[in-house]
Amino acid sequence: MSAPLTIALSKGRIFKETLPLLAAAGIVPIDDPDTSRKLILDTQQADVKLVIIRATDVPTYVQYGAADMGVAGKDVLLEHGGEGLYEPLDLNIARCRLMVAGHPGQPPRLSRPRVATKYANTTRRWFADQGRQVEVIKLYGSMELAPLVGLADYIVDVVDTGNTLKANGLAPLEHIADISSRLVINKAAMKMKHARIKAIMARMAAAVSV
Ligand code: AMP
Repeated sequence: MSAPLTIALSKGRIFKETLPLLAAAGIVPIDDPDTSRKLILDTQQADVKLVIIRATDVPTYVQYGAADMGVAGKDVLLEHGGEGLYEPLDLNIARCRLMVAGHPGQPPRLSRPRVATKYANTTRRWFADQGRQVEVIKLYGSMELAPLVGLADYIVDVVDTGNTLKANGLAPLEHIADISSRLVINKAAMKMKHARIKAIMARMAAAVSV
């Protein structure tokens, strides 16, 4: 029997869009995470398990080898830093853009503008690389609210259609990165379970739509 394999995924959009790619690699979950309360899902292959965790935790589980591989958004990977991980495959799903947004045409009130975001590391790096002084305010959701109530001058968030920004009188201002979900692999697992992981990667890569 081959070594057991654990794959970390988050619920919702990434799970749904990753399912057909996993199926192409012969990995089909037996339980549905939307109806099951299980955190470890069995698959039709007895030695392959899926762990269902928060999107922001996927790189951490894979970094420490608690999962051999996982699927995480590039936004989450940029924020995590990517230590201990290989990022060999762009799955081309959950595409969006990481943007600076704010009130269009309105200068910041302060010489050191405030930027609200859940992407604190990426935001600090973006402004520091340009020599711009900002105060980063860490939030955990509903970033669009921050400029409306004077908490921040700008936000950094992922944007898809831009409808959420528009509905709140905000506009995208600066493009930080194109985002999509990536397959990530634990570095030690890539060595120890090389043949198995390479085979899964190849079958997933063949199923990625371009
Ligand atoms: P939008 O289509 O720009 O109005 O986006 C709707 C909401 O979904 C916004 O709050 C975005 O932050 C979020 N969003 C859009 N695309 C993604 C994605 N690929 N992954 C995670 N969140 C997203």
